[in-house]
Amino acid sequence: ATKFARRVGDLEASSIFRINAKAQALKTEGRRIFRLDAGDPDFETPGAVKAAGQRAIEQGYSHYTPIGGLPELKDAVIGKFERDNGLRYREDEVMVTCGAKQALFNLCMSVLHPGDEVVIPQPYWGSYPAIAKICWATPVYLETSIEQGFMPSPEALAEVMSERTRLVILNSPSNPSGQVISKQALEALGKVLERYPDVFIATDDIYEHLRWDGNQYYNIVNACPALRDRTVVINGVSKAYAMTGWRVGFCGGAADVVYQMNKLQGQSTAHTAAVSQVAAAAALNGDQQCVRDMVNAYQRRHQLVQTGLATIDAIDYLPAQGTFYCLPDFSRIIDRLEGVDDDQQLADWLLDHLGIAMIPGSAFGAPGHLRLSYATSDEDIEEALERLNRAFG
Ligand code: PLP
Repeated sequence: ATKFARRVGDLEASSIFRINAKAQALKTEGRRIFRLDAGDPDFETPGAVKAAGQRAIEQGYSHYTPIGGLPELKDAVIGKFERDNGLRYREDEVMVTCGAKQALFNLCMSVLHPGDEVVIPQPYWGSYPAIAKICWATPVYLETSIEQGFMPSPEALAEVMSERTRLVILNSPSNPSGQVISKQALEALGKVLERYPDVFIATDDIYEHLRWDGNQYYNIVNACPALRDRTVVINGVSKAYAMTGWRVGFCGGAADVVYQMNKLQGQSTAHTAAVSQVAAAAALNGDQQCVRDMVNAYQRRHQLVQTGLATIDAIDYLPAQGTFYCLPDFSRIIDRLEGVDDDQQLADWLLDHLGIAMIPGSAFGAPGHLRLSYATSDEDIEEALERLNRAFG
């Protein structure tokens, strides 16, 4: 037997972590580094939310809460689902987690058997396949391309579904592509999923509010209400309210699956910090202008990225409709750079030669691409794009 369990032995160390660490190290050496690698808003948590957290400390929120979350936060979550998503959940159909990530973890641990298949559209957030593997399930990728707008097609979905499929994960707007799945596309995917009554669906809506496509938000349950009771709607406060470090996520789904997820969480983290839960309730119930202000900034910065990339012919690029990422195709740059054979080496080259940090697309199932984050200052974005233009324009 090996020293460590196979579930961790098989996990690959994330190249996100590697690039983050290298960028930080170069910065510490005194080099000017453009952090287009961040997965974290560069804004502060809104003042009213911080104040609610501070009050919670004073008011003695220093004790265990119910596993599924404080009643006032669960009410805020139920209110949010109804207000923003038109979805009605009872108190036993929602739960609070340590970030959206734990909602996904709880779900996977609750429904996956060893050998089950988890269908994941490409490009994807790397935690989807990683968590599936921890559960001894097999990720099965649904391929998309920049030409088809990174959109999962119903035909491709039908092709990868099998009798072993147990879970399908959807994420819109998408980390890393910034693309939104349209209502029509969701309806078409829903029609396929309706043919598989034993399959669960996770819709990861964490970037729901970070959008500038001008449309109302739709997830798979909105598009296909018949799927409600086998879909877990995952969301949280991390991205919309710049609250990544508070660790509050939440989800809604049928009472039976939420019950299992509660049992599991009760034996792991139990729950996220009480103080964080009070702050998250303030975020969900409070004035939403803070979210609009941050979205306006992301949209403006995205415009800077778009303008900058347009000057570089060798980089193919699909404008994002949301998030604070996009996923330009650098394959032609890789082809022409001496000593650079793939996106991993290109990410290192860009850091070493231009001081620009971006995450290799292969971490998201998109080799040849780089994830460019614009959760950083306008000035840094403009200067980084200038440097790219001077090198490759
Ligand atoms: N889902 C996606 C697609 C993400 O990109 C992230 C964070 O990067 C998360 C979930 C995790 O969010 P949380 O901080 O709520 O765990």
